[in-house]
Amino acid sequence: MPELPEVETTRRKIEPLLRGRVIERIEHDAPHKYRDTHLAVGRRITGLSRRGKYLMLQLAAAEAEGTPDLPHDLELIVHLGMTGGFRLEAGKHTRVTLTTDEGTLHFDDSRRFGKMAVVRPGQYASMPTLAGMGPEPLSDDFQVADFVERAATCGAVKPWLLSQKPVSGVGNIYADESLWTAQIHPAQTRLTTDEATRLYHAIREVMGAAVEAGGSTLSDGTYAQHDGEAGAYQHRHHLYDRAGKPCDRCGTQIEKIVLAQRGTHFCPQCQQVQRQQVRPA
Ligand SMILES: [Zn+2]
Repeated sequence: MPELPEVETTRRKIEPLLRGRVIERIEHDAPHKYRDTHLAVGRRITGLSRRGKYLMLQLAAAEAEGTPDLPHDLELIVHLGMTGGFRLEAGKHTRVTLTTDEGTLHFDDSRRFGKMAVVRPGQYASMPTLAGMGPEPLSDDFQVADFVERAATCGAVKPWLLSQKPVSGVGNIYADESLWTAQIHPAQTRLTTDEATRLYHAIREVMGAAVEAGGSTLSDGTYAQHDGEAGAYQHRHHLYDRAGKPCDRCGTQIEKIVLAQRGTHFCPQCQQVQRQQVRPA
């Protein structure tokens, strides 16, 4: 499933194909999945941004060419779901075809969990995960003091990260990698200041390195870019698909468990549940 590094890589790669272009047609066969896309037709894409795992195309009146600061009045929101991605060629899993004045881009999605919607800027009420999303992990909005404070009362830390509320864009793989880096058990609750500070820095480090590497391309072939170039971060995974293999830090066999319905890898030696400490009020 694409997480922040993969979505950011997608954004960087499709931006040159879309920025400044006028949308001429959007074709699809599932209005409930691709809502109000007709509103985007005839509009110019003035920018592409990302929030967590969502891509956002800013849309303005078509005459907005050459005026990058012209306020946009609509956004096309794209969530890649489990298997969504953009391609230059149509294929058997093409779900949406986006035609601009410069060319065509296809949205390919074999498992059909991807979604699109055209909304007014900031109108995310119908997208609760987007509306309630925490700060971007690589931005200045993500502050260690805030994170430490929220983590002090958190439930099991991995599901808490996956909720997107403490920080955006961290999915299953990068949550596991960050917790391994910080040496915290995925089911640990109520992190101490020291634990939360380690985790904060681990998230920044892991997400930053993964974006730099162009994300992860997994062995099941999901997550590819329109240019066919694979990400490189999968070569740096310490946990993913490594159950039973030695921990890169201590040599203990990596274990795989199910936590909050998600496959979860961890090192039973480096990542142990710490007993609850009594906190000063
Ligand atoms: Zn270990």
